[in-house]
Amino acid sequence: MTQEKKQLSEADIRAILRAADELIAVGGRRLLFLDIEYSGKLPMIVFTERGWEIERDQMVDELLQEWDDWLAAEKPVPDMHYLKDRNRGMILLLLDKIKESNNERYIPYLNEWEKIDYKKVRAAIRRTIQALESDEPVDLDAARERNTSIQQALRGFEPRDVWLKCWECGERFLFTVGEQQFYKQKGFVDPKRCPSCRAKRDDDIWIDD
Ligand SMILES: [Zn+2]
Repeated sequence: MTQEKKQLSEADIRAILRAADELIAVGGRRLLFLDIEYSGKLPMIVFTERGWEIERDQMVDELLQEWDDWLAAEKPVPDMHYLKDRNRGMILLLLDKIKESNNERYIPYLNEWEKIDYKKVRAAIRRTIQALESDEPVDLDAARERNTSIQQALRGFEPRDVWLKCWECGERFLFTVGEQQFYKQKGFVDPKRCPSCRAKRDDDIWIDD
């Protein structure tokens, strides 16, 4: 059945991933567990369920990291509309992690956010604020369960080429299985920049010296 499938060129894959990024409209993401499947002759982008579980967890951590950065920089509470109309599962996970953090400094953000979101989300935000204010014991079992599940999902991934997103220019670049193994052996973290930005950076450093 899939014998007839037409392979996409690298340029096509890049264009599709870029469009997917805009559709999903979430910033600051490094790695998308997207896969391209062929339905008949049409290439289709799918978010694997395991992939989404990991992705969502990463996105939530990045959102919280942003709050931490704002707190550290003593920035005023921003317009919280950016959290409206996000994936509901992700938002609830964010609220769970906030609860688990037991960090009362998040409350001003929650108060602002509560004003602008939908009823169900507002109720969840309110419960989170109350939990932070009351110092109620944190349910660490839920967090542990979540981590186990993510670890299992990560283990379940066959090594495969992945398309990473460059932090600098936003372009996708291929991080092959071979490169992944090399990086892992060397104890390096995944590359954050595409090869051309990396090369440019090396040049800049060279010139600065
Ligand atoms: Zn780049």
